Amino acid sequence: MIRPEELLRPTPAGLWCEPGGFYIDPVRPVDLAVITHGHGDHARSGHRSVAATPETLAIMAARYGEGFAGTTRSLAYGEVVARDGVEVSLAPAGHVLGSAQVVVRWKGLTMVVSGDYKRRRDPTCAPFEPIACDVFVTEATFGLPVFRHPDDAGEIAALLASVAQFPERSHLVGAYALGKAQRIIRLLREAGWDRPIYAHGALERLNALYQDHGVDLGPLLPATTPETSDLAGAIIVAPPGSLADRWTRRFPDPVTAFASGWMRVRARARQRAVELPLVISDHADWDELTGTLAELRPQEVWITHGREEALLRWASLNGLAARALALVGYEDEEA
Ligand SMILES: [Zn+2]
Ligand SMILES: [Zn+2]
Repeated sequence: MIRPEELLRPTPAGLWCEPGGFYIDPVRPVDLAVITHGHGDHARSGHRSVAATPETLAIMAARYGEGFAGTTRSLAYGEVVARDGVEVSLAPAGHVLGSAQVVVRWKGLTMVVSGDYKRRRDPTCAPFEPIACDVFVTEATFGLPVFRHPDDAGEIAALLASVAQFPERSHLVGAYALGKAQRIIRLLREAGWDRPIYAHGALERLNALYQDHGVDLGPLLPATTPETSDLAGAIIVAPPGSLADRWTRRFPDPVTAFASGWMRVRARARQRAVELPLVISDHADWDELTGTLAELRPQEVWITHGREEALLRWASLNGLAARALALVGYEDEEA
């Protein structure tokens, strides 16, 4: 039996597959990159060749322009490509549109690199698919028992309750541009909010891309044009970085909300002057992380980045061999 390190190993540029000649989510320009999803810390421009799902390739083109890589290879979920005897395929990760786990098989060894993932339902992307494997490579963004994300329907209900309580105010919801913003909008639609939702200009491209991929976001209006008048009672979705900008002054007495797994930490909400924290995350919480390891029961668990100490301890208490890779360059601010 070969050792897992012969198939995949951590390097400063990212996880390197020597027998297959490719990196997974490299943080530096490389010859061949397999990309798990479109968030900026995983999907960078400037690689010679990129393999990813068609949705991730479309997201990269929308963010970086068509020339983001020398060549691209679109890989549908479940499609297998072989390279020097190494078989590679992608499976849904449930994180954002097009997000994938990378399944690598070689000489009887199966390794699965989860990328960022979550296990709960998300109406904007395909659900995480558990793949039996010898080595499971997991993230640990929320790898502490204190992180238990509540049901997202309850968080959306809290937002709508606030809108009902303050009909003369507007509600400004901070949400990361890729994934979170579209999920919030879609969840509002599912909760019965059918009025137009105002979207910051920085979200326009990705909102349109999601709609093109069959995610119905309902009526959207630009939040940044002067025609928008009566905004009392309106819901505006904007990237977190724009919440304190000048443009927000046009909104009547806005209630500032922010949708993130980090909103579980009250100090972070206070730091950002968030009046209405919404604990909605695109990452696995503690129960999802440990539940996934218990379900897969791999021979080995590798932890790429995040808060690994508690998950390492949990793994050893549960009879799973685990190691922390401490990969650098993955921020997960978008959590
Ligand atoms: Zn991500
Ligand atoms: Zn990430």
